[in-house]
Amino acid sequence: MEIALVFIFGLFLGSFLNVVIFRLRREETFVRGRSKCLFCSHQLHPQDLVPFFSYFYLGGKCRYCKHKFSAQYPMVELLTALSLVLVFIKVIPSDIYQATYMQWLALLNWWVAVAFLILIFVYDLKYYLVADAVVLPAAAIAFVFNLVLGMDIWKLLLACLVGAGFFLLQFVVSKGKWIGEGDIRIGLFMGALLGWPNVLLALVLSYTLGSVISIFLILGNKKKWTDRVPFGTFLTMGTFAALLYGSEIIRWYFNLFLFY
Ligand SMILES: [Zn+2]
Repeated sequence: MEIALVFIFGLFLGSFLNVVIFRLRREETFVRGRSKCLFCSHQLHPQDLVPFFSYFYLGGKCRYCKHKFSAQYPMVELLTALSLVLVFIKVIPSDIYQATYMQWLALLNWWVAVAFLILIFVYDLKYYLVADAVVLPAAAIAFVFNLVLGMDIWKLLLACLVGAGFFLLQFVVSKGKWIGEGDIRIGLFMGALLGWPNVLLALVLSYTLGSVISIFLILGNKKKWTDRVPFGTFLTMGTFAALLYGSEIIRWYFNLFLFY
């Protein structure tokens, strides 16, 4: 039951994130929801505004101008819903009445972080740009949350330093050719969210994932070696994996060596 509610909430949050992504690109404010068609500005019916389901009910088109909506909208809504559910299952005990205040606070921290991660993920995938306007606030929010949740401030600062420093170094050495300034900010967010030493794991996972996916894209002739890759997208995937399963991955990795 709780899972179903979380899922529905996730669909609505995803719907909001779609609006944010759209307006962020156009540098508009996003205080008002998607109540008009983005293309013909026609006022939409309430039944056109149901996240995820409206897209299929309308056949992916505006009821009035027949403009095709991007499949991005239902995909982001589904992705957000599934991510919130995964975090909920991870943080809150199966009997939710046993959950402590700290666990609810941790849930809020991770849900906010996931919303930011999805924003960065889609924005970079779509526009090859880091949504700079949201990354620094995301880092600040995660930092404060983690302090309140009892993370050691020095370890947190170390994680921020390593996350941002890792990209700053590459930025300086390559004179901005390998990575963009935005990646330095993402590194800072990764540190503030994951803490030490999880930020290291996230970096390793991001690079592994990025290499594997790039190789497949190149082999499939979808990309060339010289093409740009949406690097922020890989970073957010690595961060999400480290956030959810960091300790399990580290334990599994060390067990591999203990076994031999
Ligand atoms: Zn329309």
